[in-house]
Amino acid sequence: MRYIILRDDDTNARTPVECLERLYRPWLDRGLPVNLAVIPDVAADARTPRGALEEFVWRDDETSGQRSAHRDQRSEDRGQRSECGEQKSEDRNQRSAAGIQNPEPGIQHPAAASGFTFHVSRFTREASRATYPLAENPPLVRYLQDNPGFHVIQHGCHHDPFEFDLLSRPEAAELLELGTARLVEAGLPRPETFVAPHDKLSRPAYQEVSHRFRVLSTGWFEWRRLPASWWLRYGFKKFRRSPHWRSSRTLLLSHPGCLLSCHRQPGTILESIIYQIKTQRLTVLVTHWWEYFRQQRLDDRFIAVLHETADYLAKQREIRVISFADLIHGSGPRF
Ligand SMILES: [Zn+2]
Repeated sequence: MRYIILRDDDTNARTPVECLERLYRPWLDRGLPVNLAVIPDVAADARTPRGALEEFVWRDDETSGQRSAHRDQRSEDRGQRSECGEQKSEDRNQRSAAGIQNPEPGIQHPAAASGFTFHVSRFTREASRATYPLAENPPLVRYLQDNPGFHVIQHGCHHDPFEFDLLSRPEAAELLELGTARLVEAGLPRPETFVAPHDKLSRPAYQEVSHRFRVLSTGWFEWRRLPASWWLRYGFKKFRRSPHWRSSRTLLLSHPGCLLSCHRQPGTILESIIYQIKTQRLTVLVTHWWEYFRQQRLDDRFIAVLHETADYLAKQREIRVISFADLIHGSGPRF
């Protein structure tokens, strides 16, 4: 049996329910769990490590003038890398996701043309806020609660660049606790799995994550950043060439980069997923919801690939799609 965990990063208080519904209804209808790495209290001006505005914070206060300012900023950010390390295209960086919400007068919104409606105007009054706690999007919270196929895990706290890098233990503990509190106060279960923004954790942050979470999902592990008491186990993992391993109490999972990415050729994605599944017992597939809604329109081809992937996985008798919670509670492979 081979196991798959689908992890979608960057859902936050500004994420329209319609986006998740559009992407994941075919997964949920097939009984395939979707793990959402949710940003508990997203920074209104969350930026990439190179200083560009992140595209997962949809801003409805961007008038055309402000929007072009953001575009300029993004164009300066040419050549940046995404969370998974792929080179972002220059063209895509110049576009603002905000345009999806506020189409200019006289221009029919492409999403509307496909019968896909966004409801984000409720955020306008909060435009000057520094952060958006998840609880401030009740429709999104209700949607997650009403669809048990979604499994919420914690993705940082504010998603500031490298917010879990360079932290002391007390600082890391405080930020982790704040993020967890924001999810719980929104009415979601206490998360048991953690994902760091841009996969960067300081050694003290590793220690505090291990203290609080049953699973850490990340891209890779750098031995210099790991607590010294983990080095022996890490050496054994390297010797066995295993992508997944354990600290004393936390399961440590790596993933093979973002296979479901808008930076890949759509026609090659499913093939590379199938290849990856064959190479290891458990594969964590990482994607980002907002990548399917860039360039001010739905990326129909990319969305089709996501749905084809669900269809393929559901039909394979030797493959099981599980949640991180399944892994924690014994309904998956053991490590
Ligand atoms: Zn992220």
